[in-house]
Amino acid sequence: MNLNENYEKLEESYLFSTVAKKVKAYSETNPDKKIIKLGIGDVTKPLCEAVIDAMHKAVDEMSVQETFRGYGPEQGYGFLRGAIKEYYSKRGIEFGIEEIFISDGAKSDLGNILDLFSINNTVLVPDPVYPVYVDTNIMAGRKVIYIDANGENEFLPMPNKEQKADLIYICSPNNPTGAVYNRNQLKEWVDYARSMDAIILFDSAYECFISDSNLPRSIYEIEGAKSCAIEFCSFSKMAGFTGTRCGYTVIPNELGKLNRMWLRRQSTKFNGVPYVVQRGAEAVFTEVGQKEIYENINYYKENAKIISDTLKDCNIWHVGGKHSPYIWLKCPNNMKSWEFFDYLLENAQVVGTPGAGFGKNGEGYFRLTSFGSRENTIEAMGRFVKLFK
Ligand code: PLP
Repeated sequence: MNLNENYEKLEESYLFSTVAKKVKAYSETNPDKKIIKLGIGDVTKPLCEAVIDAMHKAVDEMSVQETFRGYGPEQGYGFLRGAIKEYYSKRGIEFGIEEIFISDGAKSDLGNILDLFSINNTVLVPDPVYPVYVDTNIMAGRKVIYIDANGENEFLPMPNKEQKADLIYICSPNNPTGAVYNRNQLKEWVDYARSMDAIILFDSAYECFISDSNLPRSIYEIEGAKSCAIEFCSFSKMAGFTGTRCGYTVIPNELGKLNRMWLRRQSTKFNGVPYVVQRGAEAVFTEVGQKEIYENINYYKENAKIISDTLKDCNIWHVGGKHSPYIWLKCPNNMKSWEFFDYLLENAQVVGTPGAGFGKNGEGYFRLTSFGSRENTIEAMGRFVKLFK
């Protein structure tokens, strides 16, 4: 047997383990200091009542002979695909349920979708980037090229017509930067992809954080996108499903064979998401469910506003924080990412994520998240004011 040597080409990621090591060392030598963690990319609020009620009911169904369910459809139950179809329809986007596939989260589908594409394709990703896009392609042996996101383009890079690509990753609202593309900018990407017969892999895991109706929450709000884009969505940040696991992927019929190929791929390699979880996800789209999930989303958004307002107050350049749980700031006094990490830990006992861990253009930047508690967010920002105002 021969091993897949592409794994040798993966860069080891020491980002979160180094953060954890440094925090542990600091807290051991300073046990009296309260450390506030604003580095986490995970939700902290529990599942909402509508979801829990639906899941309890589904568990009970599983205990009764007449309502017990075994294997479900690999592509998801009709009730959930129907609810998602309706969710798009309310925003003026029409799909048949056969274009919607339920998954155990966006991360798996973002990696698995690559089964449908030749390894000879060239992949375009922004830098800085959510590392999954890069690593999954390196594992498969694909060539990855980068487009620079930086302060000049406010971390929203636009297509360069000279750059040829077959697969294009776009994440908006973006992780790690929190930057959000507007309609005209996304239209340019759609036109670019169509002009070279490329496919956009559009990650909209954070669409729920967009509250300005002028900003697109789905790539399919852009004319022509159905013929060049696959959209990946998740209940993780939308409804706190990071540990519960559910997402969905849309592959429009207009993409020709791809829809059929994905169905074939999923029914061969995947056996569906648990019935109980899909019932919980369905409840997210009910009137009560929507009201309840937005209470949590708005809580995180208010935290983000507190962070963003404080940074403005301290004259610290940043993007994100408005339609996103992420705030991406330029390290004060031209510090490098890790230098700022150490400085902040030692002087304010606040933990964030060094931007350099997301790509070369992340150097000199830093990511804060709004997933902490209100109390901790306010306290951390008070410490920022003391240090930087
Ligand atoms: N896409 C982006 C941009 C993310 O930041 C994350 C999680 O942090 C995911 C996808 C993964 O989502 P899921 O929990 O649905 O796998």
